[in-house]
Amino acid sequence: MSKDLASLCIHSITTKPWSLDKALDKFAEAGIGGISIWQDAAQALGLNAAAKAVEHSSVEVVSYVRGGFFPSHSEAARLKALDDNKKMIDEAAVLGAPLLVLVCGAEPQQSLFESRKQIQAGIEALIPHAAANGVKLAIEPLHPMYADTRSAINTLGQANDVAEAIGDVQAGIAVDVYHLWWDDHLEAEIKRCGENGNLYAFHICDWRVPTSDMLLDRGLMGEGCIDVPLIRSWVETAGFNGFNEVEIFSNHYWAMDQDEFLNRIIQAYHDHS
Ligand code: ZN
Repeated sequence: MSKDLASLCIHSITTKPWSLDKALDKFAEAGIGGISIWQDAAQALGLNAAAKAVEHSSVEVVSYVRGGFFPSHSEAARLKALDDNKKMIDEAAVLGAPLLVLVCGAEPQQSLFESRKQIQAGIEALIPHAAANGVKLAIEPLHPMYADTRSAINTLGQANDVAEAIGDVQAGIAVDVYHLWWDDHLEAEIKRCGENGNLYAFHICDWRVPTSDMLLDRGLMGEGCIDVPLIRSWVETAGFNGFNEVEIFSNHYWAMDQDEFLNRIIQAYHDHS
């Protein structure tokens, strides 16, 4: 099935060797519709220069990455996390990003249950600032291998619970196939997420077999064991019609020629998404 590149978004981290302005030029030239911007990429260029580059580009900013890291056994650290997130929301607004993606965090010194309560409280505390800046927040559930320090929210069911408990349009969910593909409740939870109006973003890549690194060995769609077209069909049935965002952290791909890599992303998007 051929797909419109206007609905393809690529995270700036995917083509990390390219500066943000270079990535914008390359994506625009290829006809790609969207970009998600990692804070490092914006900061490397300078926030105002990054905002200008975005403003002059035909590529739409889909999200800013990443806020979160709410839980801590230390109250001072939890308060600092809120300040850091407010700053991220401010930066997202400067860049014209409508969404801030949250890697919610986990505190190994306490239970995941306690960490999830702190995540919910943290997001609730940010809602007025997010609303005032026109930036929505997306909880991204992470694969349970990251439950030690990166996220106490590891299934879409848990993310749905938290988003529904918050119950504010300012907070929703980013569904990433890399983190959620293994879950036998995924189809039902995607349906639930869509029905409650909480499906804000859809991230794609693949799980390579064998995986050589738990962070930096993500594959292109079609290279591994994730049925991306099937999950995409669930997401679309649930009412999602936003961007398909390619998010690949890969030492292997960062080492290759990025023009060639971009061609392969587009090919994989057409053939395996
Ligand atoms: Zn993601």
